[in-house]
Amino acid sequence: MLKKIYNAALTEGKSYEWLDYIANQIGGRLSSSIEAEVAIKYTEAELKELGLDKVWLQPVMVPKWTRGFKEYAFIETAGGDKTITDICALGGSIATPNLGLKAEVVEVKSFDELAALGKDKISGKIVFFNRPMDPTFIQTFEAYSGAADQRYAGAAEAAKYGAVGVLVRSLTLSMDDYPHTGAMSYGSLPVDKHIPAAAISTNGAEYLSSLLKLQPTLQFYFKQNCKTWPDVQSYNVIGEITGSTYPNEFMVVGGHLDSWDLGDGAHDDGAGVVQSMEVLRLFKKVGYKPKHTIRVVLFMNEENGLRGGKKYAEEAKKKNEVHRFALESDAGGFAPRGFSFDCGTDNFEKAKSWTSLFEPYLIHLFVRGYGGADIGPLKGNIDVLAGLVPDSQRYFDLHHAANDTFDKVNKRELELGAATMASLVYLFDTYGTK
Ligand SMILES: [Zn+2]
Repeated sequence: MLKKIYNAALTEGKSYEWLDYIANQIGGRLSSSIEAEVAIKYTEAELKELGLDKVWLQPVMVPKWTRGFKEYAFIETAGGDKTITDICALGGSIATPNLGLKAEVVEVKSFDELAALGKDKISGKIVFFNRPMDPTFIQTFEAYSGAADQRYAGAAEAAKYGAVGVLVRSLTLSMDDYPHTGAMSYGSLPVDKHIPAAAISTNGAEYLSSLLKLQPTLQFYFKQNCKTWPDVQSYNVIGEITGSTYPNEFMVVGGHLDSWDLGDGAHDDGAGVVQSMEVLRLFKKVGYKPKHTIRVVLFMNEENGLRGGKKYAEEAKKKNEVHRFALESDAGGFAPRGFSFDCGTDNFEKAKSWTSLFEPYLIHLFVRGYGGADIGPLKGNIDVLAGLVPDSQRYFDLHHAANDTFDKVNKRELELGAATMASLVYLFDTYGTK
């Protein structure tokens, strides 16, 4: 069966064609945008084409944050020399004042360092968080986790000491001119204390850092006019094949339909969306009739709110739906290496017993870990959460940046990922969870 699934994915797959449309015809799909709305209609129609037993939209209210015009920034050194620098607003940030914001810069590597400097040194300044991702991690997601606090909570922390703005080194291991956006939060900080936050490219960060050593009193100017609006109506897109033996027990495969706005969101998470759709299509192609009801869920708003994932879990609980298994693909469309499992020992051992079936496809990594953000809210109400683990070396080169585009996705790697996902769903469907 696995051979049949892989053959079908590699010879008559549809994931790449779908992704071409989503990335190139629709583009970046930030929650509440027109593009997100078009993507909902498109994927719903495509799922209907597959002849599934049921396809529907699950309503969910999502936040609306808009970037506005392109951000503008420069470093001003002694004598008024200006060097233009690549920045982008972080998702959820407020705008700068209309005429922009100019202040001296204090570079720090951590929240501890920030606290040690305190109000005296920070007040009235722009705090520049410049701790790089640690390149010694082979799983680059670990390096990302180790640096992401600066982006998510940097503004809230810096504001406590009277900072007027925040610049965060882009979360990438590559040296380039792309600023990488991503969600930030002011936490419980009162609204009048909010300060604007932007990401600076890694080249920009290195340059700024070196200049600061020569001229600690240089000034940084930036202007952004992003804005948060009232929530708007959106949807998760869901399709299912009804189970032949256990129609009321559910197995979910999914990714998130929204993306950031700078690129076209081909890897994050267009790839996961089309791979998840492809799982159900492959079952139809190879004539496999699942025992459990297999659902594809295209979650809305993973990037700046996780409202879709929360809504899906909330509805599942309300309806007393029995969820056995969920698999998410949200780590890029690169060559699959394996899975990480968030489940009890019995189910993990069961999955591990299947490794030899996957080895011919160079899938070898069966580890305990994180399933995925969107399926996370199902935890406690499900037997197994799993995440597809693709090779992660190139993912953060483009994650949340303008270069996350369709041309960076390899058709064959994308298809191998879809087949790998379908294979795991097939095995858990056939042999059950414990
Ligand atoms: Zn993602």
